[in-house]
Amino acid sequence: MSKTIFPISLFEQEETPFYYYDLNLLKNTIEAIRKASDYPGFMVHYALKANTNPELLKIIASSGLGADTVSKGEIKTALAAGFAADKIVFAGVGKTDAEIKLAIESGIGCLNVESFPELNAIREIAAGLGRTAKVAIRVNPEIDAHTHHYITTGLAENKFGTLACDLEPMLRTIHESKELEFVGFHFHIGSQITTPEPFRILCERINKMQEELGDLEIPVINVGGGLGIDYDDPDKNPIPDFKSYFGTFARYLKLRPGQELHFELGRAVVAQCGSLISRVVYVKEGHVKRFVILDAGMTDLIRPALYQAYHRIDNLTSDSCKRETYDVVGPICESSDTFGENIPLPLTKRGDLIAIRSAGAYGEVMASSYNCRPLPRAISR
Ligand SMILES: *Cc1c(COP(=O)(O)O)cnc(C)c1O
Repeated sequence: MSKTIFPISLFEQEETPFYYYDLNLLKNTIEAIRKASDYPGFMVHYALKANTNPELLKIIASSGLGADTVSKGEIKTALAAGFAADKIVFAGVGKTDAEIKLAIESGIGCLNVESFPELNAIREIAAGLGRTAKVAIRVNPEIDAHTHHYITTGLAENKFGTLACDLEPMLRTIHESKELEFVGFHFHIGSQITTPEPFRILCERINKMQEELGDLEIPVINVGGGLGIDYDDPDKNPIPDFKSYFGTFARYLKLRPGQELHFELGRAVVAQCGSLISRVVYVKEGHVKRFVILDAGMTDLIRPALYQAYHRIDNLTSDSCKRETYDVVGPICESSDTFGENIPLPLTKRGDLIAIRSAGAYGEVMASSYNCRPLPRAISR
């Protein structure tokens, strides 16, 4: 029962809503990653965009993971948290000149380049600084979304990356520019992927590409992130199946001798250690529905409103054996401010503590102050 994993007496003294982070679970998750990724050349980066809470970052940085960043702010945050500059990579389709300049001046490990115009900008800025920029090309592997609907970024129609057929001129530019050093290829096929199949297909695409590119020296292959977590049953699967994930790459990807394989995991590292803790403000009996109205809203956790994401909802207070079905909603003036419809909960009343589970990734970082609401606090233990 999920109640036993939460320090409820602590929660009862706190003003809600707030994010609660279980630091032991985070440490155990990182340890599981370390063990499961213990193959020659494997190197894991943490995708900062999932969560930049300082308490979490401190633990992740000191564990030896690298960092995957997508903005100037994230590069600065990663450096401040103690990630080594050469273990930071920088991705994103719209890197500004100021961001590229900061990345080069900080000596970060690699800029993952998404287009030819971006490559030219990096070359010019590096030349102006009298520095060399390390670059990898982000390749769009065009993995079919129809057979794998959860893959959303690796298709020709998505804005991300460069199609394999357009690589040639970019590779030539890198080869001809003394300001550019070629690090390798970067891929990222999507998020919340819960079966090995898409990753196996990615391995095959990469194998084929490496074969076709023959004698081009490729120091690093970066396969991005995307490993999913169990939103339905976080108590049963608090730690994702990292063995199967890394094992898929160990088995199917033909790394060349001495080649490094980089990963960029976000959600899988932090999602399960976080919950959004809230109180029931009112239980409202409608004519066709019964609403549980929380003091937390879409400003605190936007995933359900933004992409109809499911989060498990637990009542931490009620001991009732009687179960009722509720729509669990927030106080914001938007109909999409709903955490779940027809959610079975024990009999729920005003003042009960509610945990919205698996909220450690893309939760606190996406909070807003819409309606002049304060940003949610965070408590770690
Ligand atoms: C978002 C993102 C990640 C992390 O994705 P998760 O699904 O959270 O693992 C990794 N790499 C890139 C380039 C990303 O944009």
